[in-house]
Amino acid sequence: MRTLRIGDVEITSIIERDGPWRKPESMFPAYDAAVAAEHLRTMEPEVFDPESGRMVITYQTFVVRTPKHTILVDTCTGEDKGYPAPMDFDKTPWLAGFKAAGLSFDKIDYVFCTHLHIDHCGWNTVLRDGRWVPTFPNAKYVFHKREYDYWEAATKRGDNPPGQVWNMNCLPIVEAGQALLVDDDYALDDTITLTPTPGHSPCHCCVNIFSKGQRAVVTGDMMHHALQCREPEWSTIFDIDAKQAAASRRGFLSSVAETDTLILPIHFPTPTVGRIKADGDRFDWRYVR
Ligand SMILES: [Zn+2]
Repeated sequence: MRTLRIGDVEITSIIERDGPWRKPESMFPAYDAAVAAEHLRTMEPEVFDPESGRMVITYQTFVVRTPKHTILVDTCTGEDKGYPAPMDFDKTPWLAGFKAAGLSFDKIDYVFCTHLHIDHCGWNTVLRDGRWVPTFPNAKYVFHKREYDYWEAATKRGDNPPGQVWNMNCLPIVEAGQALLVDDDYALDDTITLTPTPGHSPCHCCVNIFSKGQRAVVTGDMMHHALQCREPEWSTIFDIDAKQAAASRRGFLSSVAETDTLILPIHFPTPTVGRIKADGDRFDWRYVR
């Protein structure tokens, strides 16, 4: 996406992978072919690849530069994690994007994770001398406390496929003393706050960015595709609580529809940033170009 300015804050993105990815029928249990076809006909072309029948899905990190801090929101899948295909993304695009953004590991002040899934906390850590250590030595990492607790318990039960996400990406941050385990109402300052949107994961949160009367929101995985604006009840196979995810989605979309709030969903392809329009009891996604 192009670099975005709201007030005193600059936002850009680092892309790990993009392009056609999943078919909607394999992503949404409530999928209806006729309904989807009707919606896709009037949606912007970036979001769907008609040739392959696949949704275009990007994996990215947002870089937020405030007057006081350099912040990363969500950290993709990372390097050396040993994940099986298709989650074994090449690390070079992300590292190139990080460098192109003029960043260095030691200059990151905060890392926010909207939730602790495999593709949102990967660059939290890197492998050094056989140990997972924080990638950003001077950063505080903000995790929702109950999200962290949930994945700790799941990992200890052995049901956190594909295996070691929490062990590799989260525990080493706490052990290094760099984690801030927070609650729903956490605010870093007047500029950065959280909005709880549970359902995709137990304590999924959106990250608000406020400056000079403007607002942008990194919405994490509250939605994966623009089809979910038209059909907010279409939760994905990855949502841990489909009903709660749908309620969070509808509630959030209602709260920002017809406002100037800029929406930054992690998995929406370039140009990535958009606004929400109201459309009866549905919503419509429109890119800001
Ligand atoms: Zn995701």
